[in-house]
Amino acid sequence: MTRFVDLRERVVRANRALVDAGLVVLTFGNASAADREAGVIAIKPSGVACGDLRPEDVPIVDLVSGAIVDGTQRPSSDTPTHVVLYRAFPDVGGVVHTHSPFATAWAQACRDLPCLGTTHADHFRGPVPVTRALTPEEIAGEYEGQTGAVILATLAERGADPLELPAVLVASHGPFAWGADVEHAVENAVALEAVAASAFRALELAGSLDAISDELLSRHFDRKHGAAAYYGQST
Ligand SMILES: [Zn+2]
Repeated sequence: MTRFVDLRERVVRANRALVDAGLVVLTFGNASAADREAGVIAIKPSGVACGDLRPEDVPIVDLVSGAIVDGTQRPSSDTPTHVVLYRAFPDVGGVVHTHSPFATAWAQACRDLPCLGTTHADHFRGPVPVTRALTPEEIAGEYEGQTGAVILATLAERGADPLELPAVLVASHGPFAWGADVEHAVENAVALEAVAASAFRALELAGSLDAISDELLSRHFDRKHGAAAYYGQST
């Protein structure tokens, strides 16, 4: 293995990070990273536990043709979903899918994850939407590609910028998150699980709650993202 070493190592670290963060058990998850200049992604191989992954196991897939261009392992069965997202969003450099417990609970309940606090607003500009259910034809056909298509349709319906709303809950399934690179995609998946847990608990305590105000949402999102961001260190 001499090609795409850095990309493969980043994908290994990302998949291990999902296990370390408690987002992935067994083989229920996958992370990928794009090399836009080369027109490829590196993605977790199918059926391999994230924590057992080695760089040489990571297949390299062509973003246009979907063909394996390097590696001996079969790529994740969710690869077509990842590829649909990369093709639609040129600024996305990493995609993460998990069955993390609280985000998946919202997905299985087929409920949008409402923005109930500032931690949510720090990462997502508004509620994290749930998709519609896939049709029987979509499930019987190109299921994983259709899963990507329904994520795109959900973002389009909400008028969302994918880097301002970097996650969607796939109905009856679980979350997909992404970012400008795979490291940010992992961060967004971790943040999503944390705010999904907080929202669930807050609603248990309160019974019902309104979303935070648009002013508070924008203040928190904008201070961490965009041209006027001032959160964290400037260097
Ligand atoms: Zn899944």
